[in-house]
Amino acid sequence: MADPSTADFPSSPPAEGDAVAGKEAAATPVEALRLYLDLCRGHRLRLAVAVLHLAVGILGHLIFVVGAGWLVDSTLSSLGLDVTMGGTRERPEIDTVGAFLFGTMVVTLYCTYVDMSRFIELGERAAARLRNRLFGHLVELPMGFFEATRIGDLSSRLLADIALLQETWTNDLRTYVKNILMLVGAVVLLFLISAKLGGVVLLTIPPILGVSLWSGARIRRESASVQDRLSRTSIIIEEVLTAIRSVKTFANEAHEAGRFRSAIDEFLKPAVKVARHRAGYVCLILLVLFSCIILLMWFGSRQIAAGHLTVGDFTAFMSALVLAATSGGLLAELLGRFQRMGGATRRVLDLLEESEEALDEGTVPPGADEKLSGAVEFCRVGFRYPTRPDMTVLDGFDLEVAPGERVALVGPSGAGKSTVTSLLFRLHDPDSGELLIDGRSARDFPLRWLRGQMAMVPQEVILFGGTLAENIAYGRPGASREEIEAAAKQANAWEFIERLPQGLETRVGDRGVQISGGQRQRIAIARAILKDPAILVLDEATSSLDSENERLVQDALDGLTGNRTTLVIAHRLRTVREADRIVVLRDGKVVESGSHEALYAADGYYRALCDAEGDGGAVISNQ
Ligand code: ADP
Repeated sequence: MADPSTADFPSSPPAEGDAVAGKEAAATPVEALRLYLDLCRGHRLRLAVAVLHLAVGILGHLIFVVGAGWLVDSTLSSLGLDVTMGGTRERPEIDTVGAFLFGTMVVTLYCTYVDMSRFIELGERAAARLRNRLFGHLVELPMGFFEATRIGDLSSRLLADIALLQETWTNDLRTYVKNILMLVGAVVLLFLISAKLGGVVLLTIPPILGVSLWSGARIRRESASVQDRLSRTSIIIEEVLTAIRSVKTFANEAHEAGRFRSAIDEFLKPAVKVARHRAGYVCLILLVLFSCIILLMWFGSRQIAAGHLTVGDFTAFMSALVLAATSGGLLAELLGRFQRMGGATRRVLDLLEESEEALDEGTVPPGADEKLSGAVEFCRVGFRYPTRPDMTVLDGFDLEVAPGERVALVGPSGAGKSTVTSLLFRLHDPDSGELLIDGRSARDFPLRWLRGQMAMVPQEVILFGGTLAENIAYGRPGASREEIEAAAKQANAWEFIERLPQGLETRVGDRGVQISGGQRQRIAIARAILKDPAILVLDEATSSLDSENERLVQDALDGLTGNRTTLVIAHRLRTVREADRIVVLRDGKVVESGSHEALYAADGYYRALCDAEGDGGAVISNQ
């Protein structure tokens, strides 16, 4: 009934091949702890201090409970009751106990301050370190990773995962450790106060736990089936609203309303039943719980009456029991949150385990420490994108470019021109054949060094948030002010930068001044000039530039290319007539190669492309 074109639009499932989003398993607590400890490296002493203070603070809590019991006994004793249990127990004065309790509280609070602030500080440090480590790792992952991953998903997911881990480390981890220690300490205290009463508590645990788990499971199961019926009603709403035109044209409003009513009825009856059951289960749990408490109080009172326990001890016992029960409950609650944390940890670890590009492996050829001469040779290169292994993009691609030569790549959209430049920058490596640079396999050079020898002026220039000066210096971080200015002048960018009130200090990018396409192009050219590469790749801007800007950009480009090896991806043929050589690509193969005149005269594919472009300079590749 639903319109097929929109039916599955709102919630498309995550892509199967998605490198990070696809994996859903959770990390084990050991892996999560190892990650945390690893991130705390250098601060482990601080962690030990935090745990030590936490333990002392908990000891303070327990001592406080015992002291409160003493206070009860001392009060009773001052009323004339014998609480010495035949002289085996001496109780201090009320004032002394009061002072002792005050002292305990001060020490406990001091420890809490130290452990809490240390845990929070460590959590923040660990999260900051993880953020830095992940980002540093992410930018060094190979291009193939980014092509196989949905970047929007990845970044929002990562931010959410790290925020969750940060919350765990600054808060939950401490609560968790604290409650484990508290539970253990309180149980030990229970047995120290009265082993018999402690034994009764142990006896009550299985029935309380058993009834809670059994009821919880039943409530969950019954609620799930009711929830199922409710979701059936939302399916009807969605169906009817999507196809409201059909409902109206068939005059079926009453029919649909009836269908909906019966679905609601189907939901309502079991929902009411489940509500009654739920109340019943809660009462059952309370029945068992209170029976156990009454049993304890009864047994405790008999112990007091028999002179085996003082009233103060019993008070302390019950307080310790409350501490133990609260800690146990909190631990159970935290378990759910730890499961989510396990998922976040897994995704973070998976990402950290992705292999980085080996940026510094390989050697610089002797004698070429400073600069390549710029000879490029593609020998029978075959290539398919890892994300589309069924489609051959380059097939036996051959191209030899001499140092300083200017070669234009032309051909229809999808012929493989951009792919050739991606291989040149080694964003991908050929599947077969070889790419030689200065007569040596491109794989033998250190990647960072090799890319430092090349520059790209892209079609769509993206400026980073920052000043124009910073954006130009992107070509060579650390360049001096004079060098930046000289590059801007050479790139014909100076005349517009000069006119801006803040000149080179003008902020651009997302939150800054918007500058035009032609101006961006000139900034990109200035970047490339500053980099002074041996090999230059120009992805020509298409028709977005007006003729004034086009002339300025073209002049700047002419200044930039000089006598360096240049590969131009040409989208309009009339701009490449000056090239030393024009290489025509079709379906990943070179089909023609030569000067404009020679190719035109040969009356082949190039000529057909030129004729199709006509005088108006139409764009051949409609990218
Ligand atoms: P051109 O620059 O000549 O227009 P490209 O090199 O961009 O051609 O593309 C060649 C072929 O490779 C096209 O069919 C394109 O769809 C495909 N392609 C380009 N980039 C990718 C990529 N990152 N992942 C998968 N396929 C791609």
